[in-house]
Amino acid sequence: MPDRPYVIDQLISAKAIAARVEALAREITAHYRGTDKLVVVGLLRGSFVFIADLVREIDLPVEVDFLEASSYGDALHSSREVRILKDLRGEIAGRDVLVVEDIVDTGFTLHHVKNMLLSREPRRLEVCALLDKPSRREVAIKATWTGFEIPDEFVVGYGIDFAQRNRNLPYIGKVRFTDTSAG
Ligand code: 5GP
Ligand code: MG
Ligand code: MG
Repeated sequence: MPDRPYVIDQLISAKAIAARVEALAREITAHYRGTDKLVVVGLLRGSFVFIADLVREIDLPVEVDFLEASSYGDALHSSREVRILKDLRGEIAGRDVLVVEDIVDTGFTLHHVKNMLLSREPRRLEVCALLDKPSRREVAIKATWTGFEIPDEFVVGYGIDFAQRNRNLPYIGKVRFTDTSAG
């Protein structure tokens, strides 16, 4: 599949992303004002660019930790089974936790990760997702903060890959196959 020829059509510009990240960070800063315990948890690997930009706009002391859950592999479709490939380094019991996710699609990943983290009894747990595809949802779940709602397209860029490529694009684009076969 990665060998099929494709082009990337820009959906969200780098400038629009930066403006939205700044606005999200303002809301997050206001929400957590006064806490000295915020742990920002990035879900690897797709959120690494987003979390880097987001934490630099959050005007509070933060700790950064990472969690890796498997979902897509290299395919275009979600697996319902979610496995934890890399756990947090730090403890979150009694702490304010902000999970940073790239895309909420079917919702299975976030549902699983949230439940797992809640079982460790954080003080509060919120989620900030860069992108949301509400039309694809199979588990009723919503991020506390969402950057952009997008249609049911396969997207790449700004940390998000297609078969491990295109993470370094500064914008978000959708993959469009240019051969004639369907799908
Ligand atoms: P869910 O469990 O909500 O179906 O899937 C969530 C994960 O699937 C996202 O965190 C992301 O890693 C991946 N995913 C969902 N949609 C896309 C997409 O359009 N492009 C890429 N590259 N990954 C996606
Ligand atoms: Mg993800
Ligand atoms: Mg991926």
